[in-house]
Amino acid sequence: MTSHGVASETSLNGQCHCGAVRFTAELTDGLATARRCDCSLCRMRGAVAVSAALDGFTITQGAGNLTLYQFNTRVAEHYFCKVCGIYTHHKRRSNPNEFGVNIACLEGQSPFDLPEVVVNDGQNHPNDRPAGDGIAGILRYEARHKDNKT
Ligand SMILES: [Zn+2]
Repeated sequence: MTSHGVASETSLNGQCHCGAVRFTAELTDGLATARRCDCSLCRMRGAVAVSAALDGFTITQGAGNLTLYQFNTRVAEHYFCKVCGIYTHHKRRSNPNEFGVNIACLEGQSPFDLPEVVVNDGQNHPNDRPAGDGIAGILRYEARHKDNKT
């Protein structure tokens, strides 16, 4: 773990919208883990999350600005910045050994760089009902100016 705010070679720097909260994240499988979810919280939140191991995620600044939100079984831990309201990361209920990290908070990353994002079936949580592949569908994004991306 790094505690001096400098990302290692394989980790990405991240921050909330206002910059009060800063972190580094080492993704378990790059952007291949990018997911949305249709559970009651995620469908409102609308963020695309990528996976990081628990020891691959470090808050480097502003931990005191993070607020924890929990609901339903209160197992998952959803964190957001109390200043700007942006969701930064959450500890999963489905895999407590991982954090989900808001891809849009990561430096140089954008959910709009992903033409397709798998949407997990959050209505039927795997811990409640192990059935099917756990995928609700696919979200597609088509950029209008593909060769002039800013
Ligand atoms: Zn903030």
